[in-house]
Formats: sequence, structure tokens, C-alpha cells
Amino acid sequence: MLRLQIDKATIHKFGNRTYYVFPAPPTHTNIKNRPTKYVEEGACKAYAGRGSNRSAKLLPEVHSAVNDLMTALLDYGNDIGDNSIQSAVVQNGWRPPDDPQQGVNYFANIQMVMKFDRFSKLKFPDSLEAEAESFLGEGNDPRWQAFVKHLSESPGWDAATAREFLATVGNYYVQRGGFNPHATGLVFDLNFSIYHHIFAKDQKTLVEAEDPVNAHPVLNEAALRSALGMWLNTYSMQFNFDSYNTGKEIWHMEWRNPKTK
Ligand SMILES: [Zn+2]
Repeated sequence: MLRLQIDKATIHKFGNRTYYVFPAPPTHTNIKNRPTKYVEEGACKAYAGRGSNRSAKLLPEVHSAVNDLMTALLDYGNDIGDNSIQSAVVQNGWRPPDDPQQGVNYFANIQMVMKFDRFSKLKFPDSLEAEAESFLGEGNDPRWQAFVKHLSESPGWDAATAREFLATVGNYYVQRGGFNPHATGLVFDLNFSIYHHIFAKDQKTLVEAEDPVNAHPVLNEAALRSALGMWLNTYSMQFNFDSYNTGKEIWHMEWRNPKTK
């Protein structure tokens, strides 16, 4: 069994559920051998192995590898009784290359980066919200260039700041019309519950909370410190899956086909 050093963790209870919380681990990036070829939805099938939510679709060629990873993970979670692992399901599999949800997620990442110290004195204009969520394409696409221009010309912004801001957002998430690894049918996100702290209504006091991560980037730090995050960060490559950056999306698992290394 692939184990964690649970003597390094603190244990928290939420109702009858147990969460191990670890010190923040070193993270890694992995851009080698990423899947890039888009496939049709019809080539994918709903994953039905361990940890299935019955709807996430993946290419049949990876179902058994996903099942191997989920079996090792869930068996370990049951062994130590940790709810981050026991609650894990394969949530997002194949998504279309042009996915409106990608635009919605992109805007959520814009809101997250707006809170960074570097940009906190600026305001992302409400009038650009719909444009931020729309199909923008990549690099030379006129829709992308228009969006950059509109932000540059907004009150308080200039071209250099807009470029820096959008590059920072792009480190976390790609705009709608940009590369969408989920369209390859070889990528999934794990959803799972974590123990973390959130601000109480007074916006000052931190209180304990239990939430599903739902691929939400602001939760990555806490997700990494959960038993599930620690386990993926350490062992997912033994099953030929890895995130492009565990410091950004620990739940995002891309197939790294060992035959095409
Ligand atoms: Zn993902």
C-alpha cells in the first residue's frame, strides 16, 4: 500500500468524518508528454470503475489505469479513515474544445487574481465580465486581441498592466478557446471534500469549514495539504497520471502515456 507519513499530520473531525492535514508539501510541474489531441465525445465512455460518478467520460483506453489509481487511493483512504480520500470521485472527464464552462471558470480565475496584492488597487470592469467568459481563442485571434485592448483601455489600466494581469491569470487557467486538455478524453479532475478555514461573516475571524474542492483554484493550497492531495502529489505518476502543476491544480490528472514517452 502506498502510504503517507501520517505522524506528520494533524487530525481534524467534522461530524463523524476525519481529515488528516499535512504541512504544505513541495509541489511540482510536469509538462512532459501531455495529451494534446482532441477527440469527439462519441469516442469516450462514462467511466464506471472505482470512484465513478457515472457521468465523467473518458477514452476507454485509460479506464483501467484510472481504476488502478482510484483503487490504490480509495483503499488507502479506507485504511486510515480519511474523508478527503473516501469522498473522492472522478468528476470532470471529457469536455468539448469550446466549452462555455471554461469561460465561466476563466472569469472565476480573473476574480481570484484581482485579489492578489499586485492588482488589488485595480478593478476588473464589470462591463468586461461577459467578454471574459466568451470564446476568446488564442494569441492572434482578433477576439483575444480585442479583449486585451478593452482591458488596457479601462479606467486605471494600461497595456503593460493588462498584459501582466492576463499572463498571471493564464498561469492558473486558460481562456475559452485556448487549449483545453479535457477535450483529449485523457484527463479528469477529482472532486473531494477538504477541511480548511474560511472567514466568518465578520470577514476577520477564521472558522473551520468542510467543502468540496470542485476544481476551484483558491482551494488548491488546502487541497494539497489533505491526505488526498498529498497522496496524488507523491504517487499519481506511478499510475502514469500527473497534474501540469500540483501547485495550481492538484486534482487535475492528465494521462502521460508511457508508450509515447
Ligand atoms: Zn482539469
